[in-house]
Amino acid sequence: MKFAAGLAATVAAFALATPSIAQTPEAVTVIHAGTVLTDPGKAALSNASVIVRGRTIEAVQPGFVDVPGAKVVDLRNATVLPGLIDSHVHLSGLDDRFQARLLASTRDNEDEAYTALINARKTLLAGFTTVRDLGGDPRLVISLRDAINAGDLAGPTIISAARMVSVSGGHGDARNGRNRDGAAAVANPGNVCNGADDCRRAVREQISAGADVIKIAATGGVLSNVPGGLNQQMMDDEMRAVVATARTFDRKVAAHAHGVEGVNAALRAGVSSIEHGTFTNEETFRLYKETGAYYVPTLLAPAAALADGQRGALTAAQFDKAKLAAGNAEKSFGEAIKRGVKIAFGTDTGVSPHGRNAEEFALMTKNGMSPALAIRSATVDAAELLGLSARVGTIEPGKEADIIAVAGDPTSNVRLLENVGFVMKRGKLIKLDGKPQLTAAD
Ligand SMILES: [Zn+2]
Repeated sequence: MKFAAGLAATVAAFALATPSIAQTPEAVTVIHAGTVLTDPGKAALSNASVIVRGRTIEAVQPGFVDVPGAKVVDLRNATVLPGLIDSHVHLSGLDDRFQARLLASTRDNEDEAYTALINARKTLLAGFTTVRDLGGDPRLVISLRDAINAGDLAGPTIISAARMVSVSGGHGDARNGRNRDGAAAVANPGNVCNGADDCRRAVREQISAGADVIKIAATGGVLSNVPGGLNQQMMDDEMRAVVATARTFDRKVAAHAHGVEGVNAALRAGVSSIEHGTFTNEETFRLYKETGAYYVPTLLAPAAALADGQRGALTAAQFDKAKLAAGNAEKSFGEAIKRGVKIAFGTDTGVSPHGRNAEEFALMTKNGMSPALAIRSATVDAAELLGLSARVGTIEPGKEADIIAVAGDPTSNVRLLENVGFVMKRGKLIKLDGKPQLTAAD
């Protein structure tokens, strides 16, 4: 009896305790916004309130409303917009290519992981609440992705490609240009493939490692240490096999592609985006229209690689290709704008320094894109490419509260986005009045 009474008391105590936890009201924040770009590219709202409950946007209401018990954030002198999305970054790795080379033989995966965490925080504090990591050590990026998703670490939401699938000697073959011991140390970790069947295997291995999306090296790339230009490297049948295999796992394919034959072959194979897309012809623009694929221009990358080459930080093979790409990237982007190609914002940050992703906007507007559409490419359109439209990309009820703000009007001066003063990620305050709000628990 005594035992039963004790048990009953325990159950009663538990029954009392449990509802109080369940009933803990979610924190409510009301943002008083001078201007809100709820759906960038469309008309803005003036003098409105964004009500955030827990991690979700609950309502957008006209005027500056009061909600009892809510925390109020005064952004009446600012433009409030959805958190920015960068469709092409590499979170791991040191920004400085000289330092990276000097320290390569001393650094291990654990060092790279801490660097990736620092890079992720710089990215989030710059207003980028979602990124797509298109190639890095899978366990590193995926552990970071999962820790951020669990709320254990502050950082942007990460969509990961694991490693880039590449042919032998291709842009994603890490052995390129290394000495015997260096090449042995990075011997095929599963992403290098030759022939359609082998490329099916490489795709499945990335998915097994946790990839959300598949990245291929359709052509040569600037920073792989192998001479031979930027032409098509992966054959048509290999690309078709990659796309078909990715589809069986409901994954999209992003194609790194510079040379025009490789760009066009990747579009014909059915990829969802062309990354870089440096060289184009009439057929390229026809294929963009026909397939509905996105073009992710990464204009910061060729500029950064060229500057690295000029200060002696690249090998001869890399520098030759950097010059080739830098001469044409902005020209192709300008043509794409004139023809109405779908653009998703992406920077290839990692080639350029982390936290400065928003410098891409000025290059986009300089080459013919309106600021409003450039902002749309980094919110609504990038969300669509990443398959996240139901969760992010606009400010509307039911979406995750990924919200940023800048002083002034970024639709007339897009460079204002280089100084984001307010950042909220899934309802959590990350930056306020230009100051980080991260704590020891983040
Ligand atoms: Zn890249």
